[in-house]
Amino acid sequence: MTARTVSIFGATGSVGQSTLDLIGRDPDAYDVLALTAGCDTTKLAAAAIQHRARLAVVADESRYGDLKAALAGTGIEAAAGADALVEATDLGADWTMAAIVGCAGLAPTLAAIRHGRTVALANKEALVSAGAIMMAAVAQSGALLLPVDSEHNAIFQCLQSGGIEAVERIILTASGGPFRTMSYEAMRLVVPEQALKHPNWTMGRKITIDSATMMNKGLELIEAYHLFPVGLERLSILVHPQSVIHSMVEYKDRSTIAQLGCPDMRVPIASTLAWPARMETPCQPLDLAKIGRLDFEAPDERRFPALRLAREAIEAGGSAPAALNAANEVAVMAFLEGRIGFLDIGRIVEDVLARVEMLPVAGIEDVWAIDKDARRVAERLAAELIN
Ligand code: NAD
Ligand code: MG
Repeated sequence: MTARTVSIFGATGSVGQSTLDLIGRDPDAYDVLALTAGCDTTKLAAAAIQHRARLAVVADESRYGDLKAALAGTGIEAAAGADALVEATDLGADWTMAAIVGCAGLAPTLAAIRHGRTVALANKEALVSAGAIMMAAVAQSGALLLPVDSEHNAIFQCLQSGGIEAVERIILTASGGPFRTMSYEAMRLVVPEQALKHPNWTMGRKITIDSATMMNKGLELIEAYHLFPVGLERLSILVHPQSVIHSMVEYKDRSTIAQLGCPDMRVPIASTLAWPARMETPCQPLDLAKIGRLDFEAPDERRFPALRLAREAIEAGGSAPAALNAANEVAVMAFLEGRIGFLDIGRIVEDVLARVEMLPVAGIEDVWAIDKDARRVAERLAAELIN
């Protein structure tokens, strides 16, 4: 059997490393073309050498020299910059993992989709910002877009049993994050170290903060809205603290299909890597007797306004989701850097949505423009909070 060509965007991150872990267990089955990173050239070069990649790309152009030096004598090509990230998709991998964090992943993810092969999508911010454009590109290129986000991967698997036209309701489960039971007043004093402690999952810093504010579930609602066109009214959120059921699909006949598993991203990644077949993983089997019970509760939109803001952004349409995402990226960074408080994240997103002019989105240029505008307003709001 010939090896399958794969590229991983965001190879140094949490999802990227989990992907490489799976690929590294059966190296002869894969031919690694491109691996990319934001700025960590040491980790990128190590991964490129270990997995015998052809090309390594670092987004930060100032790191080109470091990358080149780290790869000297290996025969692996080095490149740097935003354009080089997009050009890396021209290697035409059979399977591409889109695991860059943030809207920074939009251009390479869209470029990979336009090549018309299989794209495993973890980079939810790209879909939130440019959902209609990305889904149109999928339809045009014939690419197979496989969701990696555990909830969407679960829904995708559940949809194999009935088809989208028979769906009554899609139920996105949410762990509720580390502050599920904390009062709104107490959340005011939350510091990054607390918010970075997710009860169930080990993930990158940005998504971990998003999980604490529940903006992650808001972004996932928008993600689901584009991936599974059943309409917003058929999408619901259910808090399930154990993160064992990754999501569910209720059909018109009232049959509800769920996908379960231990909270390990290698499970959904493996499902996209082997799709439509199944592959072995080193993940823990699910021991339901040991887990004992599964709990559920309704989400609290008063304490977690991100859920309401995401729904409002979908209803507003046009540029609103891109503005929501950009404002959130800026606010999360400001919180991680200790510039603003935890509750300010939601306030900034809400203020940006109220202040930025909402426009129709005809093409990708419109997305860049609204992204830039929303970031500028969010930065200004964050700066005002310090003063
Ligand atoms: P991470 O922070 O661990 O890794 C992000 C990757 O993107 C790194 O390789 C980093 O170098 C790269 N990167 C950062 N900024 C960049 C830039 N400006 N240009 C190019 N590359 C850049 O993040 P993660 O937790 O692996 O998450 C990646 C994506 O997957 C996110 O969109 C996240 O929401 C989604 N996701 C992650 C998980 C998880 O368990 N970690 C689960 C579901 C979805
Ligand atoms: Mg998720």
